[in-house]
Amino acid sequence: MKDCLFCKITSGEIPIEKIYEDEQICAFFDINPQAATHFLVIPKKHIANLMELRETDASLMGHIVYQATELAKKLGLEENGARFVFNCKEDGGQTVPHIHLHVLGGRKLNWPPG
Ligand code: AMP
Ligand code: ZN
Repeated sequence: MKDCLFCKITSGEIPIEKIYEDEQICAFFDINPQAATHFLVIPKKHIANLMELRETDASLMGHIVYQATELAKKLGLEENGARFVFNCKEDGGQTVPHIHLHVLGGRKLNWPPG
């Protein structure tokens, strides 16, 4: 979608180093990391937020979650675990309206979030 930051990343219009890419999704490190390891996994298809999901997106979302765990393991997060989070719309703290799964690890994270 025009004017979407993450669509510009998936299309290559904004060139960034990706840590994973296939036909459906890609992953890259967050530009403003909130933990020692902080990366995002996003669909190439533009979906603004979780509330916009259709039932037909189920396998795509499963693929995102599964590849996030594979990357987390490769990046050394298996033993101590990590936080996997989708922020959704204003109250959820979402700032980029293109679905993205945050993976944060490498330090103990607090719960509940502030
Ligand atoms: P959210 O606040 O849940 O919408 O998360 C958006 C995330 O995207 C934030 O953690 C930002 O730091 C991150 N971000 C924004 N622009 C970029 C970029 N060009 N490359 C990597 N991460 C980005
Ligand atoms: Zn988009």
